[in-house]
Amino acid sequence: MNTSRYGTPAEIKFCKICNITNQRPNSTDEYRHTRETKHKTIIFDAEGVCYACRNKEKQHNEIDWKQREQELIDLCNKYRKTDGSYDCIVPGSGGKDSVYASWLLKYKYGMHPLTVTWSPHLYTEVGWKNFQNWLHVGGFDNHLFTPNGKVHRLLTQIATKNLLHPFQPFILGQKTFATKMCNLFNIPLAFYGETPGEYGAPVDIHEKKFSNTCEGFRTDYIRGNDITGLHLGGMLIEDIIKEYKIEKNDILCYLPLDADIVEKKKSKCSLWVTM
Ligand SMILES: [Zn+2]
Repeated sequence: MNTSRYGTPAEIKFCKICNITNQRPNSTDEYRHTRETKHKTIIFDAEGVCYACRNKEKQHNEIDWKQREQELIDLCNKYRKTDGSYDCIVPGSGGKDSVYASWLLKYKYGMHPLTVTWSPHLYTEVGWKNFQNWLHVGGFDNHLFTPNGKVHRLLTQIATKNLLHPFQPFILGQKTFATKMCNLFNIPLAFYGETPGEYGAPVDIHEKKFSNTCEGFRTDYIRGNDITGLHLGGMLIEDIIKEYKIEKNDILCYLPLDADIVEKKKSKCSLWVTM
């Protein structure tokens, strides 16, 4: 395919069904995302329909939802705790996905979820109300994490200047926060709201669990918090620390769970998407 400087298709097209542009980049490893990165983009088939729309069709036509529910019930039965402790984590903001997933888990399937939240850059009035209602009306415990605003602002500025990507600091938390909370509280099961396949990443509809083998479906683990060669906002982390006089501790919350811990615990843990 003929591509532009950033790897996006040179000829701009729009999906015949949903009108999304073929310029939409797929999820990438943000720690290796620089100005030079060639982006993989949403796939269009020969009929001019995007992968997300095809994924939706398959969800309706190919998944046996009775069987899928039984798999969920079996999973819950395997992990449910009856000793008063939490048995699963639901990361979320109080939007439709996290509210529905946690509500079903608690009130339909008898689970005991701990909800966890990586705060947005800025709350909207509606967003804050949704978040509060999730906990106060929905009835859930929640741990809210708010990254250092000065550093968050700095990283947002760097990501915007280098990558035109102001959302990147938030994405890093979205991707890494839940697994770190699972580790902190020793909770072996987490439910994410949606699969990247629904946004056009090449993830098969039968893929239900995050893994490091499926493209677009990774959690970008790194080994031992070693920041050598890693980037934030398209800039080497070591250079950010030097140039802006911050400490490694200031960027700790943007780094993923240590891969050695993942390796040790992965046989007992499960990261599911609620599809
Ligand atoms: Zn489409």
